[in-house]
Amino acid sequence: MTPDHPAIDCRAAIDHLYAYLDGELSDDVRGAVEAHLERCAGCFPQFQLERTFLRFLDARASAQRAPAAVRRRIFEAILLMPERPGHEEP
Ligand SMILES: [Zn+2]
Repeated sequence: MTPDHPAIDCRAAIDHLYAYLDGELSDDVRGAVEAHLERCAGCFPQFQLERTFLRFLDARASAQRAPAAVRRRIFEAILLMPERPGHEEP
């Protein structure tokens, strides 16, 4: 346990995910999200996915704003990445 930060559950962690990635959280909440992501095998892949997606969009947006159709294709490509953590083939 990390007494410095309030414990949050998976729903709260995901709710804060976008604000976390945008750097909009207070130190307390950011610390709580980070603490949860370090412990939770369920949320961490989701966090990595969103972070990768946002970084990809930022890189593209610096040169040209991506149309929605392109963003959708990028997102689908990320979802289909074979090394996606937590996804196991039968
Ligand atoms: Zn979680």
